[in-house]
Amino acid sequence: MNAPVKAPALDIAAIRAQFPILKRQINGHPLVYLDSAASAQKPDSVIDAVSNVYRQSYANVHRGLHTLANEATTAFEAARETVANFLNVARPEEIVFTRGATEAVNLVAFSLGESLGEGDAIIISQMEHHSNIVPWLLLAERKGAVVRWARVTDDGALDMAHLESLIGQRTKLLAITHMSNVLGTVNDARAITEMAHAKGVPVLFDGAQAAVHLPVDVRAIGCDFYVFTGHKLYGPSGAGALYAKGDWLERLGPWQGGGEMIADVYEDRVTFADVPHKFEAGTPAIADVIGMAAAIKWLSQFDKNAIMAHEAALYGQAAAGLRDIPGARIIGTAPGKGAILSFSVDGLHAHDLAQIMDRYGVAVRAGHHCAQPLMRRFGVTSTARASFAIYNTPADAGAFIAAVAKAREFLI
Ligand SMILES: *Cc1c(COP(=O)(O)O)cnc(C)c1O
Repeated sequence: MNAPVKAPALDIAAIRAQFPILKRQINGHPLVYLDSAASAQKPDSVIDAVSNVYRQSYANVHRGLHTLANEATTAFEAARETVANFLNVARPEEIVFTRGATEAVNLVAFSLGESLGEGDAIIISQMEHHSNIVPWLLLAERKGAVVRWARVTDDGALDMAHLESLIGQRTKLLAITHMSNVLGTVNDARAITEMAHAKGVPVLFDGAQAAVHLPVDVRAIGCDFYVFTGHKLYGPSGAGALYAKGDWLERLGPWQGGGEMIADVYEDRVTFADVPHKFEAGTPAIADVIGMAAAIKWLSQFDKNAIMAHEAALYGQAAAGLRDIPGARIIGTAPGKGAILSFSVDGLHAHDLAQIMDRYGVAVRAGHHCAQPLMRRFGVTSTARASFAIYNTPADAGAFIAAVAKAREFLI
């Protein structure tokens, strides 16, 4: 057996120094940013990449005949290659740029959804984000299709046996999150794909969280579709991507019409551009896509296993501290989960908790986290959530626990 490869240690101080916003004071305290699962902060290299587009090389992309248009197009299409490499995609043409994970799911729900009929089924799970629920509910309404829900176990794992039992003759797609934004649960994407493909059913993964924290290799997973969003992986908001394997994009029709996605337009008909441009109607988020590529390059200089180990240690520290606080309850304890800590404290509303923690400079999210069916599954209307990222420190985890304890003193 090979000895386990030891991940190189991360220099967190040097990493933090690259994030200007982390120098801020909030309410007289140093910022403790524990809301990266909602959106991550941006390093200098990303901020500079976006700024440089506008300062140096900005013009609309594609079909341009002047220098700036060529430079912008080259950078934009290079970003497609960066995304393709990031996910280990075979060809850059299998990547469609979107506004984010939400738009990518909507694209599939529309274009693949066109072929659905009455009684066809889409399978999702109880731990999905609304962006991987609502597009399917809209599709179901449009086509008379049904959405089936795979159950989540009490510790926050996906019930794989139940998922398998739902797959039937009329199942047209499994659309499942790779990592839950509430529970931190990491689903076994490869096992899910094998299970579905054995029954001839394609699979989409929502990688909005997983792409940030886990090494993602879509060819090893074998899935048909994978979506992610740039702003959670230290990139700008407004850019994300859809991966569609092989000839899926050729087989699907466009979902939006407009400029950029056409070959020829006549008074009575239209022919479409080649993929992936057929799915990119209108002027894209040029600078944000280029900024997303800069974020991926920035993130890729670090070993993902080292990042996971770092974040897991912070999670462990915070979770242990929380266990010492009377009435605190952690939601989501599945083995192998990522560094997302959803919790409640008896007698305390999550919103009050988050507001008091903010007085100490600690930023956590409180609410339903765009996952209301999951909240109902666990019998709550909201939770507070601390999420750990590459730039967080043991001092942040300590400040988190101190702030929860203070909030409890105040309110109980
Ligand atoms: C944030 C998130 C989304 C949506 O991402 P957008 O950038 O809002 O499109 C989808 N799924 C999960 C799991 C998320 O965490």
